[in-house]
Amino acid sequence: MKILVINAGSSSLKFQLIDMDDESVKAKGLVERIGIEGTHFKQTVGDKVIKFTRNMADHTEAITAVLEALTDKENGAIASLDEIGACGHRVLHGGETFKQSALVTEESLKAIEDLIPLGPLHQRPNIAGIKACQAVMPGKPNVAVFDTAFHQTMPPKAFLYAVPYAYYTDYKVRRYGFHGTSHRFIAGETPKYLGKDPKDCKFIICHLGNGSSLSAIVGGKVVDTSMGLTPLEGVVMGTRSGDVDPAVLEYIMDNTGMDIHEMLNTLNKKSGFAGLSVSSDMRDVKAAAAKGDAQAQTAVDIWTYRLQKYIGAYMAAVQGADAIVFTAGIGENDTEACADVIAGFAWMGIKIDPARNVRGACGIISTDDSTVKVLRIPTNEELPIARDTLEIVSRL
Ligand code: ADP
Repeated sequence: MKILVINAGSSSLKFQLIDMDDESVKAKGLVERIGIEGTHFKQTVGDKVIKFTRNMADHTEAITAVLEALTDKENGAIASLDEIGACGHRVLHGGETFKQSALVTEESLKAIEDLIPLGPLHQRPNIAGIKACQAVMPGKPNVAVFDTAFHQTMPPKAFLYAVPYAYYTDYKVRRYGFHGTSHRFIAGETPKYLGKDPKDCKFIICHLGNGSSLSAIVGGKVVDTSMGLTPLEGVVMGTRSGDVDPAVLEYIMDNTGMDIHEMLNTLNKKSGFAGLSVSSDMRDVKAAAAKGDAQAQTAVDIWTYRLQKYIGAYMAAVQGADAIVFTAGIGENDTEACADVIAGFAWMGIKIDPARNVRGACGIISTDDSTVKVLRIPTNEELPIARDTLEIVSRL
């Protein structure tokens, strides 16, 4: 069966068509600037590319374009839409309602809509993506796969904030955690490299992309994660601040006249590397640092130090880790950044092996005598969505 994986953002839509017989990617693509003048479309099928610019008003038009491209006679991937068995959708928020992926029904869609207040910027377009598929492919099953679901195993001591308890009971305020499909994929792969039963493994996953989050895994389950009610909390990211003293908000708002929406927009979109330095992209920041930009170097140092503090905390959360795992854009590519983070643990005998710490390496990158193993594993955020979708529709 082939599964169409959809990741719908507010003005973008990423897709992959995955053949579940061998889990190979048959087609992938991206629609950008949906609802904005000059929508870009790009699909790649092997070395065949379909690329054009044509205004698309909404996600339904974007999905229609995706289906046209997938079935294109010359450059498409399938002969007919009948080959698509189901659609799997990345959905930001499952709240406490969804502890695992769910078939989209009238009832589950209503529950997903009820969670809009917890993440309106993502949840609305995610729902638009589901509804677009329902409209364009009536009768085709849709499955929702939640960014938060894998983290639902956290105990209350990890997920509750020390604020009035009624905020949790009345308003659902708690740590939810995000990047769940990536953490789940890596949590599944790591024990294979450690040669141990997943039940006996304790490790720390560092998903370091543009958005970054850590998770502490014991026996295959999340016991803590760094993102919170929203993806703003935690380590330093491309444009997000990560942790700040909440009192900073009032102080800056009083001084600048910003309202709370502008303030949060600043913390989400103009902070992190982008706020501290020349760009949200680690490569640009490092290039500036290499040319002698001291502030850029400080931004990298803040990023490194914050990660070290989180890893140290999660050593306690898992009560001694077997491994620290790096993944996503920076984790997979920036070997130096990973080595610098681990250098902060030389005192406890954790050591990177420079010969193993190479870009594209997959597996253990620490020395044989390192007290904790360090791994680099490329993530895959689409495959878990396709696997869940297949499993759920196979039961229908
Ligand atoms: P997203 O969260 O948008 O999926 P990615 O996982 O693609 O992000 O990660 C983007 C980050 O990865 C950027 O900060 C980028 O600088 C970094 N990155 C990608 N390739 C490299 C590289 N070769 N060296 C250093 N950093 C890299």
